[in-house]
Amino acid sequence: MAPSHPPETRQDRITNQWVAFAPSRSGRPRRTTADDAPSAASKEEVPVEGCPFCPGHEDMLPSVLWELGAEESLPWRTRVVPNKYAALEPDRAAYDQTCELYRSRASRGRQEVIIDTPHHDQPLAQMPFAQVDAVLQTYLERYRTIRTHDEDLIPFLFRNHGASAGASIAHPHSQLIAPDFVPPQIEQEERAARARYEELGTCPYCVMIEEELDAEARLVWKSDAFVVFVPFAAENPYEMWILPRAHEPEVGRLDDEDRSELARALRDALRRLRACLDDPDYNFFVRTALDYNSDHPHLHWSVRIRPRTTVQAGYELGTGQRINPSIPERDAAVLRNADV
Ligand SMILES: [Zn+2]
Ligand SMILES: [Zn+2]
Ligand SMILES: [Zn+2]
Repeated sequence: MAPSHPPETRQDRITNQWVAFAPSRSGRPRRTTADDAPSAASKEEVPVEGCPFCPGHEDMLPSVLWELGAEESLPWRTRVVPNKYAALEPDRAAYDQTCELYRSRASRGRQEVIIDTPHHDQPLAQMPFAQVDAVLQTYLERYRTIRTHDEDLIPFLFRNHGASAGASIAHPHSQLIAPDFVPPQIEQEERAARARYEELGTCPYCVMIEEELDAEARLVWKSDAFVVFVPFAAENPYEMWILPRAHEPEVGRLDDEDRSELARALRDALRRLRACLDDPDYNFFVRTALDYNSDHPHLHWSVRIRPRTTVQAGYELGTGQRINPSIPERDAAVLRNADV
């Protein structure tokens, strides 16, 4: 029997998010064994008809911005293309008009799609390690390119897996959106992290990492370089954060060795999720300092994985408080014990 957890409301004092936990049996895992059996679709030869991201369908793409080179029989390993339905465009003239109540500005920025693999049917959790590493290499390539060539843009890397997470094309892909303004939620977290830094005298994320390693109750995985845990005030069941154990505010400085370690951590976390929840829809995103190459003592980059097993209902939409039908300690125990 798992220990019982009383309902409790928690706040993360870095994100400032309040979450009410209502542990029930609803968030129970369905199984705990990874299933790598190929789906019916995988028997189809590439390219899959109608898929713009499959090799050979270049006529369906606006253009190709960047590619990671060919390997064995495949024409490329990863590929970056402009988002065909972009809300933001790089060459729009900037304007910003504020009236008494309303403000409008040009939708300037970049929107890119990173095609994670030439294989139509191979999600990140089921890729070989080297391919996950290639995906991260591509993330960093595009991130650094935008940071150095478009200094006024803030590149945000993320991935949507499954229809309820916002993925409209089945072929595995990630995205980069770089607006020309500071996203308010990130600015707010940086401000709170600064306040915690001033109280603690040290990076609050570093303190969080030490506490999670000590307590072990929410720990999922660790290596010398990275730690994976369910956050204290997780907004969703089975949410996971991946952080580098060494203090580092900015993801752009990740070297090849640590990038490979991150690939290992990310692949492991996604495989646990897949095993425990039977391939749930999820989002993950990279949080990094707004200032490129910054040495801020209060910021620390992370990858945050949010499974889409619940929907935000009226109370959550109206109050900003989240309700999580599970409890982090229980989710972490299930994830830790997953057979991956
Ligand atoms: Zn495809
Ligand atoms: Zn394939
Ligand atoms: Zn730190």
